[in-house]
Amino acid sequence: MQINYNLKTASERRTEQFEPKENVGFGNLRTDHMFLMDYRDGEWRDPRIVPYGPFEIAPGAIALHYGQSVFEGAKAFKHDDDEIYTFRLNKNAERLNRSADIICIPALDESMQLEAINALIDVDRLWFPMQEDACLYIRPFIFATEDRLSVSPSEEYTFCVILSPSGPYYSDGFDKAIRLLISERFHRAVPGGTGASKAAGNYAASLKAGRAAAEYGAAQVLYLDANNKQIEEVGAMNHFHVLKDGTVIIPTFTDTILKSITSESILELGDVLGCVVRQETVMLDKFIADIESGEIIEAGGFGTAAVVSPVGSYIFEDNRIVTVGDGHVGKHTRRIYQVLTDIQKGKVEGPQGWMQLVNRVT
Ligand SMILES: *Cc1c(COP(=O)(O)O)cnc(C)c1O
Repeated sequence: MQINYNLKTASERRTEQFEPKENVGFGNLRTDHMFLMDYRDGEWRDPRIVPYGPFEIAPGAIALHYGQSVFEGAKAFKHDDDEIYTFRLNKNAERLNRSADIICIPALDESMQLEAINALIDVDRLWFPMQEDACLYIRPFIFATEDRLSVSPSEEYTFCVILSPSGPYYSDGFDKAIRLLISERFHRAVPGGTGASKAAGNYAASLKAGRAAAEYGAAQVLYLDANNKQIEEVGAMNHFHVLKDGTVIIPTFTDTILKSITSESILELGDVLGCVVRQETVMLDKFIADIESGEIIEAGGFGTAAVVSPVGSYIFEDNRIVTVGDGHVGKHTRRIYQVLTDIQKGKVEGPQGWMQLVNRVT
C-alpha cells in the first residue's frame, strides 16, 4: 500500500518526546496526525496521513442519519528498549471487519489496517507520553459518507485512525472496586441484533442506561439477556466472576455479547495465570445466590481501556445491594491485571505474536 504523507511542518508538530508532568488521563489528547482512506467505486483507495483536524462530510451522509459506523479500540506500549509495541492489533483488525459485516460495511484488508496504524504511530511516536503506565490508545473507525436519505447500505465510506496519548487508567492505583446496576429495564442487545458488532449505534443505545446507573450510584449497567435471566456484559466490558477455588468464569460469547480481546487473552493465558478460565452461560439467580453463599468471591469487567475493572457490589432497581466478598479488590482480580499489564509493558514475555514492534520508517 502506497501511503501518501501530508505532514505538518516541523514547527507545527511535536519535535521532542512528550513528557507530561501530570496524568494526561484516558482518551483526552490527540496526536498531530490521522490516517484516512476512502471507499468509492467498490474499492478502498487513497491511503494518506494528514494533520489531525475536522473533516468535511455531507449533511446527508448516511452515518449521521442511520448510524452506519463501526470502531475499534487498541493500545500500544513503550518497552524498556524505547520502542513502541502494539498489543494484539491483528485481533482488532479482524474484529473491525466482523463488526463491519454485521452492518453491511465492506471489509478492509487486515494487513492494510495494520500497515495504516503502524505508519501513523511511527509518524507520531514522539507523542507517546513518558509516564508510568502510559499507552497510546488507538481508535480506528469506519463511517458511511454517501449523501443519501433512503435507507440502504452506503456506497461510500471513510476509514480513519486517530491516536490518543493516555496516562494510567487508574490514577490512584488499582484499588477501588466499582458498583454495577443490574437492570431489568435496559437491554443492550437482542438475538439477531447488532450486539456482537462494535457499532456506534450500540453505544448511543447505552447512554440512557448509563445515566440510570449513575442515579443508583453505580458506574455502569450490567446487562441481562432480553428475558432478564442471564448475565451478559457491561456496556464497554465483558463480565467475569471468580469462584472460591480460583476458577474464572466469563459468560459464553453469543451474538448479544461483544467478543472482547481482553477476555480472549485471559482465556488463552489460563495456565500462566495459575487458574482455570472458562466460559459458561451465567444465570442471574444462581450468580446472586453464589455470591451470597460465598461460592463466588470476586467479580469484574474485562476491556481494553481499563484492562480489568474490579466490581465490589451490584445494585438492583429496587435498591437491593449485593456485595461480592468483602467488597474490595480480590487477589485473583489483582493477579489477572498484573499478569496482563506486565505482558503489555514488556516486563514479562507473553505468548508468541501478542506484542508487535512499530517499525521506524519515516
Ligand atoms: C469494546 C467492547 C468490549 C471490550 O472489548 P476489548 O476487546 O477487550 O476492548 C466489551 N464489550 C463491548 C460492548 C465493547 O464494545
